[in-house]
Amino acid sequence: MAVTPHSLSMPVAPETSFVDSIDPATNEVLARFQATRTSDFPGIFQRARQAQKEWAARLLAQRCAALFRLRDAIYSRRDDIADAISRETGKPRVEAIFAEVLLALDTTHFLARQAPRWLRAERVPHHNLALKAKSGWTEFHPHGVVAIISPWNYPFSIPVAQLVPALVTGNAVLLKPSELTPGTGLLIGELVEQAKFPPGLVQILQGAGELGAAIINAGPDKVFFTGSVATGRRIAEACGRKLIPSVLELGGKDAMIVLADANLEIASSAAVWGGFTNCGQACLSVERIYVEQTVAERFINLCVEKTRKLRVGPASDPDVEIGPMIRLRQLEIVEEQLHEAVDRGAEILTGGNRRPDLGSNYFQPTVVTRVNHSMQLMRDETFGPVIAIQTVASADEAVALANDSPFGLGASVWTGDSRRGAEIASRIRAGSVMVNDVASYYGICEAPHGGPGASGWGHTHSRLGLLEMVQVKYIDVDRLPGIAKSWWFGYTAELAAAAGSLVESLFAPSWKNRFSALANKRGARGVIFRRDRI
Ligand code: NAD
Repeated sequence: MAVTPHSLSMPVAPETSFVDSIDPATNEVLARFQATRTSDFPGIFQRARQAQKEWAARLLAQRCAALFRLRDAIYSRRDDIADAISRETGKPRVEAIFAEVLLALDTTHFLARQAPRWLRAERVPHHNLALKAKSGWTEFHPHGVVAIISPWNYPFSIPVAQLVPALVTGNAVLLKPSELTPGTGLLIGELVEQAKFPPGLVQILQGAGELGAAIINAGPDKVFFTGSVATGRRIAEACGRKLIPSVLELGGKDAMIVLADANLEIASSAAVWGGFTNCGQACLSVERIYVEQTVAERFINLCVEKTRKLRVGPASDPDVEIGPMIRLRQLEIVEEQLHEAVDRGAEILTGGNRRPDLGSNYFQPTVVTRVNHSMQLMRDETFGPVIAIQTVASADEAVALANDSPFGLGASVWTGDSRRGAEIASRIRAGSVMVNDVASYYGICEAPHGGPGASGWGHTHSRLGLLEMVQVKYIDVDRLPGIAKSWWFGYTAELAAAAGSLVESLFAPSWKNRFSALANKRGARGVIFRRDRI
């Protein structure tokens, strides 16, 4: 690994820089990690390239076996992983297990089993009669060295769900965890070591944004970035300058549409969980709710009632449901959006304040109504414990409002009529829309993740995500190698006429014209049985 942890008491060279792991519940520094130096990049890249060549040459079955070892390593250290995540992010242990440990285990297990099927070479049959003498197929080859740059909010499951498909397809990985969660990043490195992947194949590079920028500048073969829109834009520019392909998984502003025939008891529980899980700091958080007028009052009352019951506090308390926000700066963004919304007429029904009695990073889960799209709260990503509810006259109005956003990551529709729900879902501009659930598709290994617009481009998860990790190569073998091709040099007026007849024989609207073009010796047959080739 390119990184070594240091205990706080160890003497260090003055020029060495560090990344601190901080407990957001107390702001206490938990551990200090040596940052990766860019001067070490030549060695890091050279080790990665060397390891990748050998790794890609191994049988796919051997790479899958290594994935099973990784799954077992994750399982054996599941408690350490959940502890590290809870400590560094402040999220409750239940969430660290469901959304991180379980998801990572399932992805690793699933891809170890599924990759051989999904990566098998695929025959490409040729529909065109004129090209029947060829046989073709596609193969899937690794890009080489891929960079994975990760956010802090799901510091284990997000990088692991990208690391695993990268490895099984034969790539080497340079993984830069968020500077806010270096301890969890280091743990991923330890698990890779425990699973006995070749040295240098996966290297954990610790540091902040400048290190991420330097990694891209050093020229990996593909970049997988998950994070904010602002950083995504910088990464897209940097990748564009070097023509490095990228997948960008950026922010969201997920809409939830609650129709009059929805089960309001269930929908309100989903709204509260979807809005406040991970203290609202999830890309798939429910941030905007559009509820039909006839049921709005009851739905809003249920949301408020359930929000007031939530237990806020440190993740060390197993009964806590809402932990601290990651940093004070993120809490201030939430406050700014709320103040602006209230100035424009919004009403806070519960929450809206800090909890200084618990620590500087705690904020009450908050329900807001009387909102509209002139407010930042309904336009920008909030990324905090706030659900904003707007009353609408109809499903059509809800769809129009849901689509009135630069983001398009996820959305949900709530109704007693699943068919109508699916019909409405297909009209929403988003990468995923769930009917009668929120966000849980993220845990379905077969489901693609990634949305349009400001939510980024490309996919992770599913077969589409696996294929982002490979270069698709088409191979074509001619079955009549002794025959020169009709379209080669030796051009004449007869050949031009014959080519025209070939087009006619294939695409003329009337079958009669097609047959006569084909039968004409100076026509289509003249192309096929050409004698005047060079
Ligand atoms: P962030 O953009 O601040 O940081 C993400 C990563 O990028 C970090 O590792 C950071 O060090 C690195 N980075 C920063 N500047 C860089 C640069 N110029 N070049 C290269 N790397 C750089 O995001 P965050 O605060 O860690 O995460 C929160 C954001 O991530 C939210 O917007 C959230 O919606 C989004 N997110 C999206 C998804 C998704 O799947 N779409 C998942 C989780 C989080």
